[in-house]
Amino acid sequence: MLSKRIQTLSPSLTIAISSLARDLKAQGKDILSFSAGEPDFGTPRLIKDEAIKAINEGFTQYTAVPGIPELLESISGKLKRENGLDYAPNQIIVSNGAKHSLFNLFQALINEGDEVIIPAPYWVTYPEQVKYCGGVSVVIETNDINDFKITAEQLRAAITPRTKVLILNSPSNPTGSIYSREELLEIGEVLKGTDILVASDEMYEKLIFGDNQFVAAASVSEDMFQRTITINGLSKSVAMTGWRFGYLASPKEELISVMNKLQSQSTSNINSITQKAAIPALNGEVDDEIESMRQAFEARSKEAYELFNAINGLSVIKPQGAFYLFVNIKDISNDSIQFCKDLLSETGVAVVPGIGFGSEGYFRFSYATDIVTIREGVRRIEKFVKKLQS
Ligand code: PMP
Ligand code: GLU
Repeated sequence: MLSKRIQTLSPSLTIAISSLARDLKAQGKDILSFSAGEPDFGTPRLIKDEAIKAINEGFTQYTAVPGIPELLESISGKLKRENGLDYAPNQIIVSNGAKHSLFNLFQALINEGDEVIIPAPYWVTYPEQVKYCGGVSVVIETNDINDFKITAEQLRAAITPRTKVLILNSPSNPTGSIYSREELLEIGEVLKGTDILVASDEMYEKLIFGDNQFVAAASVSEDMFQRTITINGLSKSVAMTGWRFGYLASPKEELISVMNKLQSQSTSNINSITQKAAIPALNGEVDDEIESMRQAFEARSKEAYELFNAINGLSVIKPQGAFYLFVNIKDISNDSIQFCKDLLSETGVAVVPGIGFGSEGYFRFSYATDIVTIREGVRRIEKFVKKLQS
């Protein structure tokens, strides 16, 4: 009965583990979950008030498929002001979360057998979406030694005549690594003269720590601007995961236009209330709230980083942004699924196996939770690891 396509699709591992942890907790079990990829903060008051206002004013009908004009103007303004990027409103489309933006993008671009280069560790969703439209993921392995970033040589070696897209995700889920301007320029040099597009997933743009700087891939050169599709949203930076708001921008108007066509036949516009509520966030009106969430994530990242590195047998690189640690367990186990299963059943701590992100011998620890819970979680992990070593 079912299509071949749907039968080969795997469910999202991050969502599966977060749901399992939630269910176990609801059954009264002592569960500490570090599996969720979402901020533990509430959406800022101003955004909620805008949504309530939109409802009360009756802004409850269908809108234009890519979003209302004032929203597209706000996104265009944000990209110009914060990233130095010139995208006209008709070069932008708003979708139901950046996940949906990516889905639309791959559906619009990929033919059977086209290759998409994905650096590992990667966000779990990329290879599944690529597979769903008949594409082939070409995974480039990275490791802790080079901060989980691909080199120009690795990229050059991965390119074939079938390469259609390179996915970049900086700051990265699950490693927290950030590509510098120089590194992006080097990548741009490798791509020069090819037709390869870059899908730049910039979801964690606002969560940057220390002296690190966020650089938008499209901003490093005119050549990169032309080939890059900039993908972003408000889920992580403004704590709006449940509102479902993501967007994508490209100077290639034909691409935006076919995605509008696809969206017009699938989901239409995103909900009208979220559109109104997103505008103040994009206009910089909740920047103070964003900054205080960022500071909280940075403080937690510092403490969790130190706690993990103090555990004999585990190691982790210093995260530059986002809210994850990608913890190396290779001295203890090379089966991250088994490790995470045992950890959950024996200690009640939920983390995500590295293999789900394409890298065996690691687990992802999300510190989007309060510091007391983080300390207790790491204490339980340490005890568990000690027991495995004895
Ligand atoms: N990209 C990355 C790297 C993510 O971690 C997420 C989190 N779900 C998304 C995209 C999609 O976020 P959303 O659909 O909530 O906008
Ligand atoms: N992106 C988040 C995560 O990696 C949310 C879950 C998901 O959409 O996969 O956990």
